[in-house]
Amino acid sequence: MKATKPIKVDPGFMNEVSRRSGQMFNSCFHCRSCSGGCPMGEEMDYLPNDIIRMVQLGLKQEVLESRAIWFCVGCLGCVSECPNGISIPEMMDTLRQIALEEQVTVKEPEVVAFHKGFLEQVKRYGRLYELGFMAKYRMKALPQIGDIPNYMKFFFSGRLSMLPEKIHKRVDMKKLNEVCHV
Ligand code: SF4
Ligand code: SF4
Repeated sequence: MKATKPIKVDPGFMNEVSRRSGQMFNSCFHCRSCSGGCPMGEEMDYLPNDIIRMVQLGLKQEVLESRAIWFCVGCLGCVSECPNGISIPEMMDTLRQIALEEQVTVKEPEVVAFHKGFLEQVKRYGRLYELGFMAKYRMKALPQIGDIPNYMKFFFSGRLSMLPEKIHKRVDMKKLNEVCHV
């Protein structure tokens, strides 16, 4: 008989995610309205309300190792559906951040490379420097020759600048990053 992995429960996990994301998970009554309309549901290993249930149960490892937390695109569709005003994208952001802090092995390294690269640019310039981001992301996540014509198209249409532009109040962005534990 195949040995099953013991399930570890972290009783403080829900409170930690709640405090960091500002969401009240006890008010979720699992109506599944969020999951029913999620455009990324088919790609996820657990649906959005399953993730909430796992957070409620303290299944920290399972949640942090899930693909679902990396597949949420923050479209806010679930937020508009939720009768209890729960913001799942805020929860997903928090879970991604905890997964990175705890160096969990993520099943979607390309998505992680994208996430880290994006945050790095925003931290440095206060906004996205597309050219620098694309170069770095592609170095980490295997270059795709097929992407080059798209880059050229954007570049010649003036939608990509050669040099990064910085926002004026980067000090505010620094404070925001600190509050968000980025
Ligand atoms: S829509 Fe809101 S209340 Fe319903 S399952 Fe999703 S998070 Fe929970
Ligand atoms: S914000 Fe994320 S979880 Fe919510 S509907 Fe969009 S992809 Fe799905």
